[in-house]
Amino acid sequence: HSQDRVFNFAAGPAILPENVLRKAESELYNWRGSGMSVMEMSHRGKEFLSIIQMAEADLRALLGIPSEYAVLFLQGGATTQFAAVPLNICKPDDPVDYLVTGSWGDKAFKEAQKFCKPKLIWSGKSEKYTKIPSSGELEQSPDARYLHICANETIHGVEFKNYPTPENQNGNLVADMSSNFCSKTVDVSKFGVIYAGAQKNVGPSGVTIVIIRKDLIGNAQRLTPVMLDYKIHAENNSLYNTPPCFGIYMCGLVFEDLLEQGGLKEVEKKNKKKADIIYNAIDESNGFYRCPVEKSVRSLMNVPFTLEKSELEAEFVKEAAKEKMVQLKGHRSVGGMRASIYNAMPLAGVEKLVAFMKDFQARHA
Ligand code: PLP
Repeated sequence: HSQDRVFNFAAGPAILPENVLRKAESELYNWRGSGMSVMEMSHRGKEFLSIIQMAEADLRALLGIPSEYAVLFLQGGATTQFAAVPLNICKPDDPVDYLVTGSWGDKAFKEAQKFCKPKLIWSGKSEKYTKIPSSGELEQSPDARYLHICANETIHGVEFKNYPTPENQNGNLVADMSSNFCSKTVDVSKFGVIYAGAQKNVGPSGVTIVIIRKDLIGNAQRLTPVMLDYKIHAENNSLYNTPPCFGIYMCGLVFEDLLEQGGLKEVEKKNKKKADIIYNAIDESNGFYRCPVEKSVRSLMNVPFTLEKSELEAEFVKEAAKEKMVQLKGHRSVGGMRASIYNAMPLAGVEKLVAFMKDFQARHA
């Protein structure tokens, strides 16, 4: 970690691996002898085709994506997928289930109401989104086309450790993995659709990745705009229109870096270690710091915490920033603090934060 860089605890756009940024810098002006920047290339030229194909191949290797699944590099953020999912995966009258464990899941549920009649089968709202239900607590609709979940709630810091199974044989699990994508191993074959905005773990904003089982493609509702129709994008290998070329290139560099680290098993180990260090510091602070989330479902990626003396929170954030630890303020809807510790956050950043927390407590207890 270079001295001129801060430790950026932002929820997204977020910290990227320094070696990836350096590699991009070294190729910025003239990509591998092409005489062009990736930003200047035709998306249909052989150079960019090699970039997008390599990005897809590396992502397939990382996640072990089976060949029955398509990988799409799209635009519009995960928010666009809140609409694209119902438009592609169900008809207006089909039953579909939503399990809401935080504000992102809630947004997805509300957007789906425009295109179908989603049923809210569980909500953590009354418990301030600090829990994840066990499969036994769910009353799924017997004939639901899909069950939608948010794998990791970025604002509330709750993360599924075991995924529910749709009860219906023809039901599909659909997951918004925006904030824990590529942070750990996943059995893709358990899902119908996985989608994620890139700007947390795998690249800059502007790229949204969709992984979809191919038999679910091709049944979009009649009014679906072309840009939201998975079939159009799948048939054109994500090149129906001009894709976010530079962003896809950056994601490719991140995938390569994750593979070089030994793949997602290794990445997951590092992420567990980092998260443990922060949660332990919170739990061992005698209540000076608190994390409201039930221990068994605490996120490895986003650690929300409050100060018992809430009047000190602004001071905490300000002092941390002076020590080059930035973006620790919690989301405006929940307050407190939040440390997002995505793949690219070095262990040293987490250690520095915990040392600061202890020092801050010693000075203010
Ligand atoms: N879903 C989750 C879990 C998120 O964390 C976010 C953004 O922070 C979104 C969806 C919305 O993503 P986007 O801004 O890419 O539309």
